[in-house]
Amino acid sequence: MASMKRAAPAAWIASSLVLLSGASQPHVRAQELGSAVLLATGSQGLTGQRSRLPKDWQGLRQIDAGTSILVMPGHADSQGFGGGASGAAVAVQGARPMAAGMSDELYWNLLTVEAVVRQGLARGLNIRSYDPGIRSIANGNDPRTTWSVGKAHVQNGGYAIEIHYDAHGSAGIGSGLIPPIGTTPSQLDESLAAEFGAFPRFFRDGLGAPKRGIAILEIGKLEGRLEASLRNPATRSATIEAIAERVVMALERGVSRQRSDQPTMALPPLSPPPDVVGSAPADSGLPASSGAE
Ligand SMILES: [Zn+2]
Repeated sequence: MASMKRAAPAAWIASSLVLLSGASQPHVRAQELGSAVLLATGSQGLTGQRSRLPKDWQGLRQIDAGTSILVMPGHADSQGFGGGASGAAVAVQGARPMAAGMSDELYWNLLTVEAVVRQGLARGLNIRSYDPGIRSIANGNDPRTTWSVGKAHVQNGGYAIEIHYDAHGSAGIGSGLIPPIGTTPSQLDESLAAEFGAFPRFFRDGLGAPKRGIAILEIGKLEGRLEASLRNPATRSATIEAIAERVVMALERGVSRQRSDQPTMALPPLSPPPDVVGSAPADSGLPASSGAE
């Protein structure tokens, strides 16, 4: 989701400055610091406000445990037109974008997809990612777009999902799952909605991805503590890993048909994640922008 219109309250700016002051911590302390921050407050609260829009659907269709799951970064090929949320740091605070040539939303989408697939594989899910690599493809129906590849994946019996971060301020709704329209919502959709919240099935009369059978997962609004934790180099890796763990646990519950109200901490933790900063997306040389979705 995207767009930028709002001013942030002064309190938010003050709190993010406090967080950013941790950026000078030595690297060896970074993981500990990040984990401590997340443990102290719970990663669930980290993603902020959940969608308050009505959940007018129920995911009942069963998904076999071995179903192929395709995870894709939202706006990966639409930079320059509907390129994703700029985030409050850039739009309100005047911070530099995380990378030239892409919205901050795409930057975080890319890192989150990488972590979700890595953790999902480690937990035995049949999961992979797709990124066109080309940052601007004008025709959404071009066979290289996430929409086209996701649509084909669903038609072949797989489950496809795009990772997004929502816009800050009143333009954003919050975290939640937008189920596919092209197929009936599944237990996988239901599981993700239980973890992150839900949007109405025909949100904005049906977005490009859901119309093609692809679910959209909004992680949270790019503002406040979530955005500050992502932007702070000392907490970035732990933040991405904690978010990815929630996504993977929800996927796991969705395919294995276990009850989604079971505690997520019952399973053993993953080994300490590598620093994902080094895998930051490359500069595509195109101007960042924001737009719908
Ligand atoms: Zn988006």
